Amino acid sequence: MSARSALPVIAVAAVSALLAGCTSTKSSGSGGGDISLVNSGKLTTCTHLPYPPFQSKQGKKIVGFDVDMVDLVASALDVKQEIVDTPFEGIQSGEDLNTNQCDVAAAGMTITDVREKNLDFSAPYFEATQALLTTKGKPYKTLAGLKGKKLAVQQGTTGESYAQKHAKGVKLVQFEDLALLLTAVKTGQTDAGINDNGVLYDYVKDNADTTVTAEFDTGEQYGIAVRTGNDALRKKIDAVLKDARADGSYDRIYKKWFGTAPKTDAR
Ligand code: GLN
Repeated sequence: MSARSALPVIAVAAVSALLAGCTSTKSSGSGGGDISLVNSGKLTTCTHLPYPPFQSKQGKKIVGFDVDMVDLVASALDVKQEIVDTPFEGIQSGEDLNTNQCDVAAAGMTITDVREKNLDFSAPYFEATQALLTTKGKPYKTLAGLKGKKLAVQQGTTGESYAQKHAKGVKLVQFEDLALLLTAVKTGQTDAGINDNGVLYDYVKDNADTTVTAEFDTGEQYGIAVRTGNDALRKKIDAVLKDARADGSYDRIYKKWFGTAPKTDAR
């Protein structure tokens, strides 16, 4: 077969693989409708590990605030959640969703205008802001104070773009995940690190030699993402989040992971 005549065959095969990859589940309750899932009988979630307390491994299990949130959605759909660990770049660019790797992405991911072009977000479910991590005894409390120093950033994140815009004259050192960034700061490989306040406060609890010295008031909100146009699933997620706030499960899960009740404006 010539390369030219093979093309339509490949195209047809790709389309039918795509169709075969989607199965439908009937959902009951508010905001339902026919929701198609990439793997039958499961709600497949893309995330990027580790990002505690939102998602991280405890033994063999993946646990966290986001995991519990998506479990509520799975149970409303009468299926189990299955979590796929994949680089954040493919999550935030919409690529994983658009190639049917997963039904939802839940990765402590901030709702941004750029991302909204490539995927659709649920209603916000968590508030965050960028923050600065350093080791105790270091003087860094501002980005200006880090001039000529090394600042750890996590690839593809809002923290990285904030630093690119605001950390003038600071050497940005890019890390692929949160764990590598935290270790770089702790071991002095970089002078400080920027990331979301929730994960940094969680880290300093167990790492007394490190400290959070600033918050930058970026006013971020996390959303659960679905592929563009998957309104049935997005509406279902919104309905589940609304119910969770009304029936106390949101507060219970928040307390489980953060130790306190949420401020009313933080949810
Ligand atoms: N909230 C940040 C963002 O959306 C970081 C998310 C993450 O690293 N998982 O870019």
